[in-house]
Amino acid sequence: MAESKQILNSVLRELPSVSDLLASETGVRIAAAAGEKHTAALSRRVIDELREGLLSGGSSAKRSLKEAENKLSQQWAADERSGIRRVINATGIVIHTNLGRAPLSEKAREAIADASGYCTLEYDIETGTRGRRGAHAERLLAELTSAEDAVIVNNCAAAALLVLTALASGGEVIVSRGELVEIGGDFRIPDVLVQSGARLNEVGTTNRTKLADYEKAIRQDTRLILRVHPSNYRIVGFTASPEVAELAALARQKNILFYEDAGSGAMQDLSARGLSDEPVIAKSIAAGTDVVTFSGDKLLGGLQSGLIVGRREVIEKVRKHPLYRTLRVDKLIYAALEATLRSYRSERATDEIPVLRMLSMTKDEIEGRVAAFIQRLEGKLGKNSDLKIEVIDGESATGGGAAPDTRLETKLIALSHKTLSAARIEHALRFADPPVISRIADDRVLIDLRTVDEGDEVELADVVAAI
Ligand SMILES: *Cc1c(COP(=O)(O)O)cnc(C)c1O
Repeated sequence: MAESKQILNSVLRELPSVSDLLASETGVRIAAAAGEKHTAALSRRVIDELREGLLSGGSSAKRSLKEAENKLSQQWAADERSGIRRVINATGIVIHTNLGRAPLSEKAREAIADASGYCTLEYDIETGTRGRRGAHAERLLAELTSAEDAVIVNNCAAAALLVLTALASGGEVIVSRGELVEIGGDFRIPDVLVQSGARLNEVGTTNRTKLADYEKAIRQDTRLILRVHPSNYRIVGFTASPEVAELAALARQKNILFYEDAGSGAMQDLSARGLSDEPVIAKSIAAGTDVVTFSGDKLLGGLQSGLIVGRREVIEKVRKHPLYRTLRVDKLIYAALEATLRSYRSERATDEIPVLRMLSMTKDEIEGRVAAFIQRLEGKLGKNSDLKIEVIDGESATGGGAAPDTRLETKLIALSHKTLSAARIEHALRFADPPVISRIADDRVLIDLRTVDEGDEVELADVVAAI
């Protein structure tokens, strides 16, 4: 016993010290990027781990300075990987919430860079005096949706909370039982209602709610009728719900408000792309809806924001509510939204906004890109590669709460390997620079070029070739 303890002590003495590691080539290199303090903390962790290895594994455990440097490098690399980074989305899910929903247009990216310094956030160039924050983006939004006015907040959940608080707090809100839904990320209509201080009055049944159900439920303290787009949830079969125009007319007749939470919402009719269920915001306004809310980073193709459009006095009430100040957006959001909305105004949205461009791609177009991509990839791989490349039929997905039954046919690149499992290939792609996010089916890794920017294809081919 005493002898082995002696051996262990002498082995522990061979362990490099934290200052040895900090003074090593690796330590100096990492400190230049990570800072002295952070590198010292990482180094202490590395030496502790080596010591624990020695204590549990005995004198055969690794303990050289080279080993410590390797560990330090790995920890720093993991640290660097963990922040927000650009990725290549090869999943085929166009509005991928985990990957930042809508990718921005070139113009929106430029607008963000432009507004990053000082900008005219609350300044009117014409008069040289203070201007209203967001006025330009709001005017554009109102124009494009044929609404009288608009106001912009942090996201659609915030928009719903603000609208319900400003318009219905202390009163009653009528909602169909078929629309008391939860929409990804814990957005639950009944919970938002409680938070707003309004009371929920449920009407109808899960599958069928009629106009008369709404009418019967209206009482003295009813403030509004809320219609919620069920987004990625569907009841099919024996169903019924009144038209938007019918609800709007009922609300007007009873002197209450009608509010539609359109969720994703579309600025233009997307039925040609299989999205016939998405409420078109301008249509909802034209049907007489008092206020409509929708997301800025779903089908609109902009960035995280909650867009509120509607009648002038209703929007004014929303904007004047103290909660608005806590939910307002940053200058960069306004800048990118303005650029995105200008693409709609100039009627170039389908060409300029990536989400719309990706949704518009036909299977034939994708097949053409797949063929060119595989040619490029095979050129890089050479003849004797163990990577097997196949082209198969498949489906992309809209994502972002769009109807679950929309079909987007695509051509997929299916990768398999003589010795590597699909899980290993997927892992190698994910750990590449830039990371490539793919999916696995039937023990093959699937790459969908629908969601890959054409400009990223060279990098993607490099990453795949390096597997
Ligand atoms: C997505 C969605 C929301 C939440 O939108 P965020 O912008 O993510 O806050 C709210 N309502 C509906 C109907 C939705 O589809």
